[in-house]
Amino acid sequence: MSLSENFSTVKTILIFSRPYRHSSHPIMMLSPHPRNVLKYCPKCGKKSFVYQENDSLLCDACGFRFYINSSAAVAVLITDKQGRLLLTRRKFEPHQGMLDLPGGFVDVGETGEEACIREIKEELALDIEKLHYKISVPNEYVYGGVMYFTLDLTFHAEIKDLNTLKAHDDVVEALFFSPEDINLNKIGATSIRKIVQWFIDQSAKESID
Ligand SMILES: [Zn+2]
Repeated sequence: MSLSENFSTVKTILIFSRPYRHSSHPIMMLSPHPRNVLKYCPKCGKKSFVYQENDSLLCDACGFRFYINSSAAVAVLITDKQGRLLLTRRKFEPHQGMLDLPGGFVDVGETGEEACIREIKEELALDIEKLHYKISVPNEYVYGGVMYFTLDLTFHAEIKDLNTLKAHDDVVEALFFSPEDINLNKIGATSIRKIVQWFIDQSAKESID
């Protein structure tokens, strides 16, 4: 279900979750969109938290409004001398065992560039020499039964020394793929699939910078 489809059905209380949308499965599930999950006002505690069509929840009792925003995240493109792209294998859900780009959420008060440097050090033990901003792609991310919205800021990173590469943190392994060998179906997140597709298209033009 796309975001626009989501918003066109705001008056609908029961919404099929993705796995059951096109199946005959008898179980109906609420979508994990925050409008279905957040039932109580976090300020006064009353069950009067109502979804508004401007992407917020408003408390009828105390007037508190909670906005549903995109969180910033970073995705990092790392290439070797042969132009192969580094993809990681995820250790945890969502998309456990599937391929991903290194990166993650931007911490509060952190810049996108700082998030890239921190995540690449944490996940791959690599030091970034220079970063080049590329594109941004929105994504939906279900964690703990709640849908989060992200904007994945994509950077191409020049690495000081690829020889120190070692998988850590939430990464099982890191592998380099030639653009023609990348199977997009093995990539978990929709946004990352779009970013890698963009990389493949750019590689065909012989440069991503
Ligand atoms: Zn309230």
